[in-house]
Amino acid sequence: MTITILAENTALTRNVLGEHGLAFWLESQEHRLLFDTGQGRILTDNAQALGVDLHAVNTIVLSHGHYDHTGALPTVLHQATGVVMLHAHPDALLPKYRRNQSGVREIGMSEESRAAITGERCRFIPSRRVTQVAPGLYATGEIPRRHPEETITESFCRDPLGRDPDLLLDDQALYFDSPFGSIVLLGCAHAGIINTLDHVQTLTGNQPLHAVIGGTHLRAAHADRLDWTIRELRRFNIACLVPLHCTGQPAGAALWSAFPNTCREGGAGTVFEFQERLTTHPEQTPNPKGRLSPMKIAIPIAEGKLCMHFGHCNQFALLDVDEKAKTVTNKQMLTPPPHEPGVLPRWLHDQGATVIIAGGMGSRAQNLFAENGIQVVVGAPAETPETLVAHYLTGTLVSGTNVCDH
Ligand SMILES: [Zn+2]
Ligand SMILES: [Zn+2]
Ligand SMILES: [Zn+2]
Repeated sequence: MTITILAENTALTRNVLGEHGLAFWLESQEHRLLFDTGQGRILTDNAQALGVDLHAVNTIVLSHGHYDHTGALPTVLHQATGVVMLHAHPDALLPKYRRNQSGVREIGMSEESRAAITGERCRFIPSRRVTQVAPGLYATGEIPRRHPEETITESFCRDPLGRDPDLLLDDQALYFDSPFGSIVLLGCAHAGIINTLDHVQTLTGNQPLHAVIGGTHLRAAHADRLDWTIRELRRFNIACLVPLHCTGQPAGAALWSAFPNTCREGGAGTVFEFQERLTTHPEQTPNPKGRLSPMKIAIPIAEGKLCMHFGHCNQFALLDVDEKAKTVTNKQMLTPPPHEPGVLPRWLHDQGATVIIAGGMGSRAQNLFAENGIQVVVGAPAETPETLVAHYLTGTLVSGTNVCDH
């Protein structure tokens, strides 16, 4: 697997530019994948200068929804030769702000990027959980916040008045296995670099970590947190550490002096080669202590069974699920509001639904659910909600054809 840094704060080779942002290109026999896109001012020029064929991209993974990771989405999706699978946490599309002394500033994804994601060049696959985004490549999904030392101290918020704090639950990392251990790519590591690495090890059954490359967001970290981070990093015994982007110079200097033989330089234009090792699908059970949204499955119902056309159903079954025990803990039957485009996804979101199992659904409706943070499973048979959920939880839900996909 060849990993090329296409966008980063610094430029390290000829004819390449830097910007505050981050983007990685992952290429192998079977992969043409972009992890983040930078702010959008340098990505395509740098790709050209580095001989990377961005048009061939087939998968994009977003680490989170900040502008410096999502800015080039409209350009990349417009230029792509085929339809692109885009994986992100649903919260990546929400408005994002940051408050400082001079006021509240918008720092989320641009309107254009949001429109590109829900456009026809792109198949948006939202997920809060670990997802295999390409053979052997995994996005972590939501990262449990285990260490209070890594609590977010900056004033990220979700409203222009700065009242609603943004915990950045969308923050995730990308990883794959090599003969020497896991290779981990970080976007900003807003969840905390140690929380992130612990989570990768949980997901991989404690595989050693070989390389960690990316933003560590230690720019604003106090000396105590830096000392703690360095102490914790020692337990992973990482062979190759490349602190990038929002690590900041003081933290970068501290990491380089603590791990002089482990740290490597990186910037726009840097290329890394790693041998991949295909792994079986990891255990999908997230840390129960983590702050994950509890799974709630919505199913459109007519006469006690799944209704093939979700717009025509007269009731919705909502089932609370204990993912670990694979059991249903509660079931409600609700009457939906009158069917109009966009109403049902919002209503189900307000009911706390995280997944919808449906027979058929058009792609526009699927995107509306995705925008509301609800994962869509289509092509399910006309069975009782209990049967469908039991099959879904054990991974044996047989999906037929999507009867609405025109
Ligand atoms: Zn960020
Ligand atoms: Zn950052
Ligand atoms: Zn960033």
